[in-house]
Amino acid sequence: MRKVDLLIIGGGPAGLAAAVSAYEQGCRDILILEREDTLGGILRQCIHNGFGLHTFQQELTGPEYAQKYIDRVIDYQIPYQCNTMVIEITKEKQVTAVNRSNGLQHFQAKAIILAMGCRERPRGALAIPGWRCSGIYTAGTAQKFVNLEGIMPGARVVILGSGDIGLIMARRMTFMGAKVLACVELLPFSSGLKRNIVQCLDDYDIPLLLNHTVVDIAGRERLEGVTVAQVDPETKRPIAGTEQYYACDTLLLSVGLIPENELSRMAGIDLCADTGGPSVDENLQTSVSGVFSCGNVLHVHDLVDFVSEEAAKAGAKAWRYITDTLDKNLKSMPIISGFGVSGAVPQKIHVGNADQPVTLMFRPKNVYKNAKVCVTAGEKEIYRHSSRILTPGEMVSLKLTPEALRQISDAENLTVKVEAS
Ligand SMILES: Cc1cc2nc3c(=O)[nH]c(=O)nc-3n(C[C@H](O)[C@H](O)[C@H](O)COP(=O)(O)OP(=O)(O)OC[C@H]3O[C@@H](n4cnc5c(N)ncnc54)[C@H](O)[C@@H]3O)c2cc1C
Repeated sequence: MRKVDLLIIGGGPAGLAAAVSAYEQGCRDILILEREDTLGGILRQCIHNGFGLHTFQQELTGPEYAQKYIDRVIDYQIPYQCNTMVIEITKEKQVTAVNRSNGLQHFQAKAIILAMGCRERPRGALAIPGWRCSGIYTAGTAQKFVNLEGIMPGARVVILGSGDIGLIMARRMTFMGAKVLACVELLPFSSGLKRNIVQCLDDYDIPLLLNHTVVDIAGRERLEGVTVAQVDPETKRPIAGTEQYYACDTLLLSVGLIPENELSRMAGIDLCADTGGPSVDENLQTSVSGVFSCGNVLHVHDLVDFVSEEAAKAGAKAWRYITDTLDKNLKSMPIISGFGVSGAVPQKIHVGNADQPVTLMFRPKNVYKNAKVCVTAGEKEIYRHSSRILTPGEMVSLKLTPEALRQISDAENLTVKVEAS
């Protein structure tokens, strides 16, 4: 069994930023394990621009953004193994991985950072009627075909779901010569970023059909068309008589992302039902001591800049854990997601630790105009901020100051909520 101070699972933007940060804090025994053949994670296939506006004040493509971190990993000579799949982790921080050249490898780590990213929800999760014909892909798979393999999935496309990957693929398929007929969304709002709706749909006259869904699929060997119907906004049931047939050879699914938490579950880490990721404290430490989590495996982020910021924190805190300078045995206070809030992260906080601001992130449950985000402990309000608009496509990130946290050290819990007018 090989010993290593810090073992990072996943070499995407989260794993890379965590490694760089831990190194800069002083950690010299780090190992990154990545199952793909190169570092960079999902950013390798995101060849559009729009990355890094916060972190580098530059508009970069996904591969350019990832490369900035890969270069630092190489400069610092941080070891990594690609083509290496982690297949097991335990509560004792033992990790089993497998690759072609070394076979099974066993590691004993002092600390672990989970940075495995997320995966797309497939067709099976949607129960769309029709044959299992070819021509139905998740939007990310289609993106991989087009951007990395140079393969066009089809010529006439309908997109189901309006997540960011679907929106970006609407534009990409149009650039590549396909006709995108519509983007169909069950909800009354898009779950993608506003800028992606404007730049990827509106600019190319691609209709966004809100309160609609696909109710039937035609074609046995290859997709021949889909039937789209309006749904009742309350019950989400299709409204008879509103069906429209679109002749198409490709249906792209952009219907949600799920954090990759099979390994976390295996290690007995507590998961949060709202985010699908581990429950963590303000240090991003999970319920298993010395196991930290960041990036899309913790909760699905909208911007990679926030992933890098969060991962840098995980790297620094993991180093403090290794050097035994992270406070232990402090009383923790749960953070409750109140009205309008879906899956606040972290899920708990040690107020006795309050020497630095604590970042709280969540997705609004709905679209709220002229709303306020408030954080309260019992009757005491410690944070309030007004927003012109809150939407589920854009995460809310707020900072609680140490002064504010010290005021509530004896409270039972904290609630974060939206006040909508
Ligand atoms: C289509 C698309 C468009 C996007 N557009 C933007 C944008 O315009 N601007 C922006 O800021 N953000 C954008 N994002 C979001 C951004 O790409 C993500 O926030 C970011 O990549 C998440 O980083 P991560 O490291 O958590 O996950 P990932 O990038 O998914 O990396 C996780 C890594 O872990 C590895 N892994 C998983 N399990 C194991 C295992 N068991 N063993 C070993 N390795 C494992 C995976 O192979 C992967 O490389 C976009 C994302 C997508 C998919």
